[in-house]
Amino acid sequence: MAALNLAGLITAAADTIAAHAEELTVLDQAIGDGDHGLNMKRGFEAVRAEAEMFAAKPLPEALKAIGTKLVMTVGGASGPLFGTLFMALGKEISAEPDRTNLTAAFGKAIEAVAARGKSQVGQKTMLDVLQPVQDALVEGKTGSEIADIADAAAKATVPMKALRGRASFLGDRSIGHMDAGARSTALLVRTIVETLEGRP
Ligand code: ADP
Ligand code: MG
Repeated sequence: MAALNLAGLITAAADTIAAHAEELTVLDQAIGDGDHGLNMKRGFEAVRAEAEMFAAKPLPEALKAIGTKLVMTVGGASGPLFGTLFMALGKEISAEPDRTNLTAAFGKAIEAVAARGKSQVGQKTMLDVLQPVQDALVEGKTGSEIADIADAAAKATVPMKALRGRASFLGDRSIGHMDAGARSTALLVRTIVETLEGRP
């Protein structure tokens, strides 16, 4: 892996979230409370504001600090979950990760999210994107394949019935809408992949 431009990654992620905040709001309005777009935007703008500070740290410390910042700023159910994802990734990743280390660290980070959310795959949450991405990493898929898998996985939450989070209060009425957290996760996956590999 080439030397990581963490400040560039943060900027790209914050740009993507800002560009899609309205879309995330609309998704969360359908089967939640409509705050996911603003929650994510607030969090990623807070991370963007200190991008140089994060980027000056070794990667594990940077990811832990970003996770802490997301917990403090995103709010909602998703703040602690995205925060846990980054914090756990920071705990497991090495300063200069190769694919093997990244894959193992991402696997542990997903386990931490599932434990924090008391959730599992198939419940119409961000985990329904995270796990297929992890499987694709294990299978040695390319970056653009992984981004496509993440998009397809977010779309695949449409027919699911929500069993965790606010959408679960709707029971069967949660069916037929994409999960907002699955969509934001897929957006972040594509942005990270395309920033790391150079946009097509
Ligand atoms: P809130 O639900 O508190 O309004 P957000 O709207 O910011 O918070 O985030 C909602 C998203 O969080 C959902 O779309 C789902 O992907 C994710 N989520 C909620 N609860 C859980 C959980 N227990 N486990 C995994 N993901 C969850
Ligand atoms: Mg919400």
